[in-house]
Amino acid sequence: MAAYYTAAEITPGIYHIYENSNVCCTLITGANAALLIDTGYGFSDLAGFLQRLTTLPLVILNTHGHLDHTGGNFQFASPAWMHPAEQDVYDLYQQDKASMLSFLQKRFLAGKISNPFPAHFEEDAYFTYKAVPFLPACDGQQIDLGDRMVQIIALPGHSKGSLAVFDDQSGTLVSGDSIDRSLWMMFAHSAPPETLCAALYQLKKRFPVGRILASHAKTPYPPQMIDAVINAIRHRNPDTDSIFIHPRHGYQALHHKEPITGIAGVSQIHLVYPLPHEENTPVP
Ligand SMILES: [Zn+2]
Repeated sequence: MAAYYTAAEITPGIYHIYENSNVCCTLITGANAALLIDTGYGFSDLAGFLQRLTTLPLVILNTHGHLDHTGGNFQFASPAWMHPAEQDVYDLYQQDKASMLSFLQKRFLAGKISNPFPAHFEEDAYFTYKAVPFLPACDGQQIDLGDRMVQIIALPGHSKGSLAVFDDQSGTLVSGDSIDRSLWMMFAHSAPPETLCAALYQLKKRFPVGRILASHAKTPYPPQMIDAVINAIRHRNPDTDSIFIHPRHGYQALHHKEPITGIAGVSQIHLVYPLPHEENTPVP
């Protein structure tokens, strides 16, 4: 059976860690500390796995509050940094754990995903785990890892408090769910697509991004992915885009497919955004 966690060293000291539920977290190591960006669902022993990669003290940051990014926080004694706007999102997804787990189980049984639950997974215990409280993170904040200084960048869109991390030394941007081939921006806690578009223009101006590590992509994207997302946002059209139905909650949104070329393995960007009358007051 395949290992539940696997790590790829993308560039010296930066590991993109894949967990078997199709989500990644990222570890950036410095001389004095290591930054863990996101903690996956936490169905298996992420903290134990990390000990194979580093013995440095860990700083933890969550890109946003969704369960597949914060679920493993309970495994760590230190509090995680997260944007304060994400506390409500985190709480919402903690309350929604049962629905998420049964959805994953259904997808696995239908053969759509590999088994997200390790053999030793105890569902009842998972519901009782509580993470330590969060520390407030914001745009422009720097994290000193010793010989490496990384910067937090706000990319509001997928959620209002979504954060990315830029490592100047390697030109690596860790984007969470804010830059990816599939971009969901239809939540009540999403920011309007134009807001993300403006943040991405600023990102291009301010940071020499050389590669992008996204939470739902095993391998890095080239920086052209930023333009691909901008184009998808600019070309969305409520008159021609198709209806999207949320797979767990059943509400409707719009789905724009933007064809792209020049990025290996990616033929289109999927942008999901609110129906026009709901752009200002999206459904929960
Ligand atoms: Zn998310």
